[in-house]
Amino acid sequence: MSPIIYPTTNLKKPSDLVIERGDGIYIFDNKGKKYLEGMAGLWCASLGYNNQEIIDAANAQMSKLSFSHMFGGKTHQVGIDLAEKLSSMVPMKNAKVFFGNSGSDANDTHIKILRYYFNAIGKPQKYKIIARERSYHGVTIASASLTGLPVNHTHFDLPFDALGVLRTDAPHYYRGAQPQESETEFVNRITNNLEQLIIKEGPETIAAFIVEPITGASGVIVPPQGYYEKVQAILAKYDILFWADEVITGFGRTGNDFGSTTMGIKTPDLMTLAKQLSSAYFPISASLVSDDIYQALVEPSNKVGVFGHGFTYTGHPVGCAVALKTLEIYQRDNIFDHAADVGEYMQTKLLTLKDHPLIGEIRGKGMIAAVELVADKKTGLAFSHGEVGNFAMKSCQQLGMITRAIAGSSLAFCPPLIITKPEIDEMIFILQQALDETFIFASKNKYI
Ligand code: PLP
Repeated sequence: MSPIIYPTTNLKKPSDLVIERGDGIYIFDNKGKKYLEGMAGLWCASLGYNNQEIIDAANAQMSKLSFSHMFGGKTHQVGIDLAEKLSSMVPMKNAKVFFGNSGSDANDTHIKILRYYFNAIGKPQKYKIIARERSYHGVTIASASLTGLPVNHTHFDLPFDALGVLRTDAPHYYRGAQPQESETEFVNRITNNLEQLIIKEGPETIAAFIVEPITGASGVIVPPQGYYEKVQAILAKYDILFWADEVITGFGRTGNDFGSTTMGIKTPDLMTLAKQLSSAYFPISASLVSDDIYQALVEPSNKVGVFGHGFTYTGHPVGCAVALKTLEIYQRDNIFDHAADVGEYMQTKLLTLKDHPLIGEIRGKGMIAAVELVADKKTGLAFSHGEVGNFAMKSCQQLGMITRAIAGSSLAFCPPLIITKPEIDEMIFILQQALDETFIFASKNKYI
């Protein structure tokens, strides 16, 4: 046994997969076996593996300036260029950028910015944050408190009380609707619950509402039509900021530049970016805030004092150079248009499997999807354990494709954005075989 403590893993049963190298949309294990990377690693390797241009950009920056920091206002050209580029790309007006190392720490940064901001404008009581059930925002003490999954709370005494995290409904019609409830009624009910929560807590105590525009890691949940329109109207009514965590949905993943665009979200006040920001060639994240928030931070009348927050690796020059090159390739090669086109093809192809007896729901947008496996197709009865989802995931792996069992029994698909239609066909072909094997397994064990 290696001395590694694996993240979110049953340590008695770690996988024996040792990955050795990657090329394009494929990875290879230490026995030479090839796998189609159906998850772009962990929703992040958007341009695939072994991209020589990105490797060259990293090498060149390593040789030129391997480290510099941003404390005291010191900076470097790649950091300036990346901040300007991001600010011009996001659906926010004149956004300002703080760099971090991961999605989790970028969300922690936002919590601190919010506290600092409301202190600076004389509203220190406005600190609570609303987050949704079944959301994923990271695993640090603060970001795990925003996360709405028991696995990230149990044994850690989370959510951390002092953060004032409030919880509202996951916008998942298939799992959350009441009997006979239409999608419109569902949206009305859960947005009304949100408004009641705000009234009960007191809007003057609530800083922001954080959402993944499309929930990623906990099930790929696409909210129904009209949901965000209602949510944004409620937040505007009570003067609560909108915070889009686009760690998965950013950069072409959902059929547009950002998940906010796909879902019709108007001008978020805060955005969190990571993963595809660098196509996962370097750990780097960005916390973006509106100019209004930024102005309050720098306002001379602000008596709060210096914003005492920053990491050694904030704005790491190699990370900035890698991210800049990634964004340049996205734009030069029209990667988002390609992903929108192939993503639509992927969704259509997945839907051809909808009559399979194990499948309860197929959902997604653009190049992200989930196939939910159920114990009873007619009633949508969920499995009470993860055995079937895990079997299906391993079956895909044996057949040469990486996927991920999420939210118990859903299989996630989030291939590199550069995947082609014939490669999607290959993915679907493997999935079909794996589902048939899983059906036999589930029948034999009387799980269905
Ligand atoms: N936010 C979202 C929406 C995520 O999906 C993730 C990771 O999957 C995070 C935050 C945390 O990012 P990291 O794992 O880089 O800390």
